[in-house]
Amino acid sequence: MNPIYDQLKRPLRDLRISVTDRCNFRCSYCMPEEIFGPDFAFLPNDKILSFEEIERLVKIFVSFGVKKIRITGGEPLMRRDLPVLVRMIRNIEGVEDIAMTTNGSLLKKYARPLKEAGLDRVSVSLDSLDDERFFAMNGRRGKVKTVLAGIEAAAEAGLYVKVNMVVQKGKNTEDILPMAQYFKEKKHILRFIEYMDVGSSNGWRLDDVVSKKSIVEEVSKIVPVKPVAPNYKGEVATRFAYEDGDGEVGVISSVTDSFCGNCSRARISAEGKMYTCLFATEGTDLRSLLRSDLSDDDVAAQIAAVWENRTDRYSDERTEQTASRRKGRIEMSHIGG
Ligand code: SAM
Ligand code: SF4
Ligand code: SF4
Repeated sequence: MNPIYDQLKRPLRDLRISVTDRCNFRCSYCMPEEIFGPDFAFLPNDKILSFEEIERLVKIFVSFGVKKIRITGGEPLMRRDLPVLVRMIRNIEGVEDIAMTTNGSLLKKYARPLKEAGLDRVSVSLDSLDDERFFAMNGRRGKVKTVLAGIEAAAEAGLYVKVNMVVQKGKNTEDILPMAQYFKEKKHILRFIEYMDVGSSNGWRLDDVVSKKSIVEEVSKIVPVKPVAPNYKGEVATRFAYEDGDGEVGVISSVTDSFCGNCSRARISAEGKMYTCLFATEGTDLRSLLRSDLSDDDVAAQIAAVWENRTDRYSDERTEQTASRRKGRIEMSHIGG
């Protein structure tokens, strides 16, 4: 193993791989319908990394000490035969943990084959328990009960489940409490995500963000909560345990309490570009490298050079001004959060 560090001495530890830029939802904060409409040009198949190309990249990243892989999208379950890819990654020596982020709409069908292929964990996104508000946020695509069935199927299949809720002022603030209550009872960890200025299409305004502080105040109405130490260095969610000893919630506070100092994550988009920050405008084209005559060592050297030059700390430096300069920023649906 050959660990590499960026300019701020952060190691490369995690890899997120987007396996498709397509999605069956149109969440207003991610793929708003007005932009991702029927004429939107998604990537053609030959521009998307094959499973073999992804496998080759994972092996290279593992040689730098990456142990955790997260599969994401778009909606990862829109990619055909996904369990086959999970199995290929599982068989790579050095991979300790494989997770997937999904909107849950197809999870009921795929939970068991994914578990059998070697998936460890899923994070399922769900923004409300109320169909009308959920519809308003997901472009009238997914029903609450379908996602809840996916969550239960995942748990029954033996996957470790967490639920992610993006909180957007005026859209689903009133859902914080019922969501916390529901998942406390179900014994799944709920993580609230502050609405972020990713990409350039969601019309983000600082006023639309519900802060970690407000979220925690709201959750405390059920049972008071107290902060608890992270499970590991670089965990993005701040953890809060219920004082009755029954469960916990997390808050991912990229806006009001950023965590760039611990950011050890690289992202690969479906077309094979490597990004070293969620808020990047430029990626490094790994697909061309993979489709050239370069050896694994040559590709590894180029990836290492990108990481070793990295200085990203966008969220630590965010202001209203930087947030308004968003042209050309990579969309969340390309790199999957
Ligand atoms: N389609 C899958 C899903 O929704 O879980 C995976 C990809 S999605 C881009 C990954 C995560 O990013 C989801 O939990 C989603 O809610 C979150 N997300 C997307 N846009 C966001 C934004 N503007 N602010 C905060 N979180 C966002
Ligand atoms: Fe699709 Fe996930 Fe983006 Fe929603 S957040 S539009 S489900 S990729
Ligand atoms: Fe990492 Fe960029 Fe997010 Fe900071 S803003 S935590 S560097 S992805």
